Order: sequence, then C-alpha cells, then structure tokens
Amino acid sequence: MRFERAWVKMTEAEIARITTVLNATHAELIRSQDPRLASAPELALYRRATSHYDRGFVLAELGEAGMLANSETRSISLNTTSLDAVLKRRELITEEDRDIAATLFALHEAFHIAQGIGDHAHVRRMKQIAGQWIISFLDLQSTSCAVNLLADLLGLNALPDANDSTRNKIFQRLWIDLSHASLQSFPIYNNPSKCQRWVGHLMMSALLLKPSLWPGWSTRDVLWPVWSINEDEIAVLSKNIEVIVPPTKVSRATLRVAVEHLCAGDDAKAFVHVCNLVEYLKPQRR
Ligand SMILES: [Zn+2]
Repeated sequence: MRFERAWVKMTEAEIARITTVLNATHAELIRSQDPRLASAPELALYRRATSHYDRGFVLAELGEAGMLANSETRSISLNTTSLDAVLKRRELITEEDRDIAATLFALHEAFHIAQGIGDHAHVRRMKQIAGQWIISFLDLQSTSCAVNLLADLLGLNALPDANDSTRNKIFQRLWIDLSHASLQSFPIYNNPSKCQRWVGHLMMSALLLKPSLWPGWSTRDVLWPVWSINEDEIAVLSKNIEVIVPPTKVSRATLRVAVEHLCAGDDAKAFVHVCNLVEYLKPQRR
C-alpha cells in the first residue's frame, strides 16, 4: 500500500511569497531582451498569450477550473486548490523546488491561453464535442512549452554562459523530477486519454535519459502515443499530428502492464516498461 502523507496546504504567507515569485518570472519573461532567451520559440507564444494580462498572476479558489484569464482585471487567476495539489507531495517536491514547481504550474496554465482554452467553459465543451483526448493532448503540449521555456530561463540565470549540457540537466530535473511529481497528484482513474498523456510524458523522459535511442529527438518534440483497444499495436504522433512511429505491433504485456501501473498510481514501475517500449519502437525517417 502506498504511503500518503497528510496534505499540508499552503499558508497565507507562502501564497504571498509564491505569487511574488510568479510575477517576478512573468515580468522577466515579458521584458527580457536577452537574445539567447528571445530565440526560444515558446517565448513569443508566452508573450502573445499573456501580454494583455499585465497585472500578472493571482491565486484564487476557482472550483474545477485550473486557471481563469480575466480580461477586465488583466490578470490570470490560478486555482489555489490545484496548486496545493501540485505541491502536496512534500516527499517528492523539496522546499527549494516548491517555487519552481509553482512556476511550472503557472506557465502550463498560461500556455493554455495561447492554445485557446483560457476559458474553462471552452475546456468543458471541447471535452463534450471532441472527446477528452484533446485536453490531455493540449496538456502534454502545454507542459512541454512550460518546461522548455523555464529550462532556458533557469539555465541563463544559473550560468551566464549556460551550454546545452546545463540546459539538459535543468530540463531533466523539470521534466522528470518535478513534472512526474506534479502528475502523480492528479490520479488518472483509468481515464484512457490521461493514460496517453502519462505514457507520452514517460516516453519523452526515457529519451531524455537515453537520447541515443532515437537520434535527432529534441526536447521540443512532443510524443503523443495512440494504441489499439487490445493494447497490441501502437503508433506515435507529433504535436502536429505527423506520424513519428508508424503503427507497430508490440507485446501486449509491455503496454498493458505499463498502463496498469499508471492506473494504480505507480509511475516508477510504469516507467520501466515504457523505457522498453521506446527502445523497441523505431521512429521513421521524415
Ligand atoms: Zn492543463
């Protein structure tokens, strides 16, 4: 049985501190003239999404919405309860990482504005008319944008001459340590598209740890897996719905077992099987 610690909510003081951190990062992203940051494709997207909201982020109770973009107050409200859920795994997210995990959450939510789902009513309706998968797909993309942008920013701030290897180390910490911990906070309850998001996320984690498996894969290449109902055939799509890995027969056990571990909340065990899957699958030359 998994050991769950008590859910310790943020104090008022921590909410105030985190809000200050988020808005300092927001201001830096909006105003930075650093050419190395300006070359990040996610920065233009972030600026386009958030330039109207010059009052920055506020934390508020929002019911089931993660975020609410307020055109009138020109601020982006983030759901305090959702952020509490992200930060609740104190055994996984250390004190020093709490501000970074909160920043990732804020950037993830802000990129939803760029994706056209800044209004929660649109999220609900999209799930109704297009299916849940579209939101999980956009979630994976949004996390990719948030981690890529934050890795660039933290890399520059940590070392003025940050190189690719510094960035990759930071990216791994954000994508594997912090994002896995955050994802664990939202159980998937056998939801197939949330499973797809997790498997895609873990496939990208596997490639981060062993890039030689798929030469040429970059941290900006989002992987969206789709599989047959029997879990014996899988294909992998890009964020632009290009087929990266064509439909491929796989051992039913590999995929099924990975999905079962994810549904049981054990991403570490699932990760072993997803690594085997990535090792087996071959991306096609494009
Ligand atoms: Zn989201």
